[in-house]
Amino acid sequence: LKDTRARRLFRRASSDPFFPYTFLGRNFRALALDARWKKLPARLRCSRFQQIIQQRTAFFLEVRMWQSKKAAVLSRSSRPLPSRDDSDISYCTNCGGCCEIASGFPDFPEETELPVAWKTLFGEGLGEGHRFCPFLFEVERSGKSLCAIHPWRSFPCRAFEEEECTFLKQDGYVETVKNSRDLPAPVKSLFRRLRRKRRP
Ligand code: SF4
Repeated sequence: LKDTRARRLFRRASSDPFFPYTFLGRNFRALALDARWKKLPARLRCSRFQQIIQQRTAFFLEVRMWQSKKAAVLSRSSRPLPSRDDSDISYCTNCGGCCEIASGFPDFPEETELPVAWKTLFGEGLGEGHRFCPFLFEVERSGKSLCAIHPWRSFPCRAFEEEECTFLKQDGYVETVKNSRDLPAPVKSLFRRLRRKRRP
């Protein structure tokens, strides 16, 4: 990242235990396999990579801020903190595959407390080159997904059930992207630095 502020924000976001490091890596692998993407001039690809990291970082920090304010409000009120209602989704292994979508149909329950702009963002996505949901987080770089807005998520997210999950898991493309080693050079060095930083 060239810009100092962008570097600082990225450092802050990537040191957060919920930063979607693995999904960002897969995002870049998917782009590297994309025929249209491959045709772009190298300089343009590089600036798009930077743009993707900056947009992802900025929105990640915005959601983290909102979450901490929300937790503070809920803890002051008598309302319980919303928790994951996963009693009926025992088949879910938190692989994040179902959330690797650029955007979804923004149909949210009426009682959802999300900012209106975020619902629009869910519908439109973070922008060109983004391959996973703006609200997809990761648990401590384990590859395990976490929905940042699970209690307030959209109807289409709720409608994704075991049948769709099984279908997705059998999709060869998803596996190809997961197993691809095809990370673009600038991203590879950025990720190498992050991995080094993580070691004690
Ligand atoms: S809102 Fe949550 S459940 Fe829905 S696609 Fe995004 S991360 Fe997945």
